[in-house]
Amino acid sequence: MKKDTLLIHGGVMGDKATGAVSVPIYQVSTFAQDGAGKHRGYEYARTGNPTRDALERLIADLESGSHGLAFASGMAAMSTVLALYSQGDHLVMGDDVYGGTYRVLHKVFSRLGITHTAVDTSDPAQVEKAIQPNTKAILVETPTNPLLKVTDLSAIAKISKAKNLHFIVDNTFMTPYWQNPLTLGADIVVHSATKYLGGHSDVVSGLVVVNSEELAEQLYFLQNSIGAVLGPHDSWLLMRGIKTLGLRMKQHEQSARRIAEWLADHPKVQKVFYPGLSTHPGHLIAAEQANGFGGMISFEVQDGEVAEKVLRSTKYFVLAESLGAVESLISLPAKMTHASIPAERRQELGITDGLIRISVGVEDVEDLIEDLSQALSSHS
Ligand SMILES: *Cc1c(COP(=O)(O)O)cnc(C)c1O
Repeated sequence: MKKDTLLIHGGVMGDKATGAVSVPIYQVSTFAQDGAGKHRGYEYARTGNPTRDALERLIADLESGSHGLAFASGMAAMSTVLALYSQGDHLVMGDDVYGGTYRVLHKVFSRLGITHTAVDTSDPAQVEKAIQPNTKAILVETPTNPLLKVTDLSAIAKISKAKNLHFIVDNTFMTPYWQNPLTLGADIVVHSATKYLGGHSDVVSGLVVVNSEELAEQLYFLQNSIGAVLGPHDSWLLMRGIKTLGLRMKQHEQSARRIAEWLADHPKVQKVFYPGLSTHPGHLIAAEQANGFGGMISFEVQDGEVAEKVLRSTKYFVLAESLGAVESLISLPAKMTHASIPAERRQELGITDGLIRISVGVEDVEDLIEDLSQALSSHS
């Protein structure tokens, strides 16, 4: 089945009992048993709910995995995955992973004796060098946020296999429509489904996919034990969003390419970060391991003052955190998503005060370019 068909026919189609074409919302917490301990597949809705089940099967199909799991947020998904590790274990992770992932490792799991080393994963040699005898996993995002750095997933998978580590990929930016890390050798895929998968700025959710019975069993145990599950209504909203993922991703991508090229030619723009541009250092790797480049662009203007003026002047680009929605969004990483990183460290990483990040929505691209054009010239 091709991707666009899988989005519609993957997972569970409708409801067998009634013929309903959409999976019903089973708004229920417990299920009647035919005898003590004799249930019909469901007993208590933290353990399993038919609507969440349908979503979990759908995301497994979309990521070419065997098992999917749905959580109350991307961070709930990530934290449950990290609960696989124990005191004394060590992780190697990207030095510009999502701020929440960094925070939970740095402030929560480190208290429990799980340590980590952050490196630039776009350089596999750095990853290899950071591995210690007690390393248990490598955690990567590609492309990263906000600098859109690309990591070679097959290269990291090779390193990870040789050392018998788990290879975890946060695939939020690419979505399963463009990139399937499990097919490139990853062991665990994590999503903030709040972003592109949901796509409509109306649901917070997280997903995990694996391709191994053993990992699935461990993660189902943790999902049920920790209990950060996604509710039935949100599960349904997510399935509804996913039906149009292909249509949306194609539009995000087409418009993002146009806008990235336009920005690259703009006299007030000093630098553009978009893996789809042939000048991007990760362009060839991105082209090889993914079927698209996504809808996220970062670009640099003169300084923080100019950047803030641009942010205040757009009318279609909404000034907000988050990404991946039908609405175009604009943000200033240094003052928003990455404000908690010390200024010096931000400079080292290349997150300058004049760095603007946009999530290209599905509005008419001519309107979006006109909007950026007037915002960039409104203060000359
Ligand atoms: C937003 C995000 C998360 C966290 O997801 P929530 O749904 O906000 O908990 C994790 N990883 C990436 C790459 C994200 O963009």
